Amino acid sequence: MGRTQSGEEGPNFEPGVELHATYTLFAEGCRGSLSQQLMEKFNLRDGIQPQTYGIGIKELWEIEPEKHKPGTVVHTVGWPLTSDVYGGSFLYHLGDNQVAVGFIIGLDYTNPYLSPFDEMQRFKTHPKIRPIFEGGRRIAYGARALNEGGFQSIPKLVFPGGALIGASAGFMNVPRIKGSHTAMKSAIECADAIVKAFGEDAPAVLDAYPAQLKNTWLWKELYKSRNIRPSFHKGLWLGIAYSALDTYLFGGRAPWTFKNHTDHDQLKRAQKPLMIDYPKPDGEITFDKLSSVFISNTNHEEDQPCHLTLKDDQVPVNTNLVLYDGPEARFCPAGVYEFVDDEAHEGQKRLQINAQNCVHCKTCDIKDPTQNIVWTTPEGSGGPNYPNM
Ligand SMILES: Cc1cc2nc3c(=O)[nH]c(=O)nc-3n(C[C@H](O)[C@H](O)[C@H](O)COP(=O)(O)OP(=O)(O)OC[C@H]3O[C@@H](n4cnc5c(N)ncnc54)[C@H](O)[C@@H]3O)c2cc1C
Ligand code: SF4
Repeated sequence: MGRTQSGEEGPNFEPGVELHATYTLFAEGCRGSLSQQLMEKFNLRDGIQPQTYGIGIKELWEIEPEKHKPGTVVHTVGWPLTSDVYGGSFLYHLGDNQVAVGFIIGLDYTNPYLSPFDEMQRFKTHPKIRPIFEGGRRIAYGARALNEGGFQSIPKLVFPGGALIGASAGFMNVPRIKGSHTAMKSAIECADAIVKAFGEDAPAVLDAYPAQLKNTWLWKELYKSRNIRPSFHKGLWLGIAYSALDTYLFGGRAPWTFKNHTDHDQLKRAQKPLMIDYPKPDGEITFDKLSSVFISNTNHEEDQPCHLTLKDDQVPVNTNLVLYDGPEARFCPAGVYEFVDDEAHEGQKRLQINAQNCVHCKTCDIKDPTQNIVWTTPEGSGGPNYPNM
């Protein structure tokens, strides 16, 4: 806290807190930055499938009262995505004439020109969806990655002095897009194991937590849904057909488990036929990234080290721009990454990082094809502020 842009101690500098607890629980949500380091340091991912992700983009609207049907839930798959991309929408009529609408896209998409933000905007132009929002007012915007790896991607949950809980560990029922209940259940079981451990010899590694968790409904629920997401690797229609079989014929107990693949190495090389011509925002139903970030209430202290770090400054231009036409400018739903003219080198581009716009979705850390972008935590209290999302 309180470091200046150059990393020096500023007037408000406070050193970080040292934790000396017997057990520290990590609940950072999907793709937690400390959790990533812990998984690497303690080899928690050895012998399991890679974690995979989706990006969810969500808006909150106030719609005309006569169109509001409290309790209505609508889920769709596919459109406007092509059938090789996993994704779909959710639309929930809440109270007070409010509607939450969101679109989730699997981050294993292959087209470097795909823009999840623009797909979400396009979704709202569907003739069955657009009328819901006509005459309404968009009041909030946000984006966040979610785990899609499921059961076969759950890492080892414990290490000396700590444990992973919630989405940090990847507890997410992907077909249902539900992870709050599993996050809470994992925290309850972990807390229970800790209380018991304190009554005994409090071992450094809390093995009782995963042992307890494996005997709960959470483990069974994630096991039963484990093949649904990877069955979409062969496209939408085969995925739907397999999911119906797996659910209704096998009841989630098929004697096989499909594998997952990593997201960042799926992009094809940029080529003209892959380009997507997204319609311009109309400012009524569809919007641009900057006006969206504005209503996410995102704020970062400007005089602090950039929390979006590059392992190698040259890679964005020399590799990502050359091979994939700079996909970070499209997969970021907040317009953080921009390739601009490099004033110092005529005719060349440089990557500009507008870190103050970052809505902390973690997509860049996941989807960067060269894994060169590392998302780190900014100064405390920085980021989006979602009061009603
Ligand atoms: C678009 C979308 C729609 C969803 N819809 C549903 C739904 O309808 N129902 C449902 O059950 N689930 C839904 N989910 C999933 C659900 O949001 C997650 O499974 C759930 O929030 C996980 O809870 P968590 O506490 O583990 O993590 P989170 O809710 O992500 O909380 C983690 C918190 O830790 C903070 N944090 C992260 N790193 C650090 C750090 N290093 N230091 C300090 N703080 C840190 C974050 O800012 C965050 O506040 C949805 C997810 C998305 C993206
Ligand atoms: S910079 Fe990364 S984490 Fe921040 S909004 Fe963009 S993609 Fe998400």
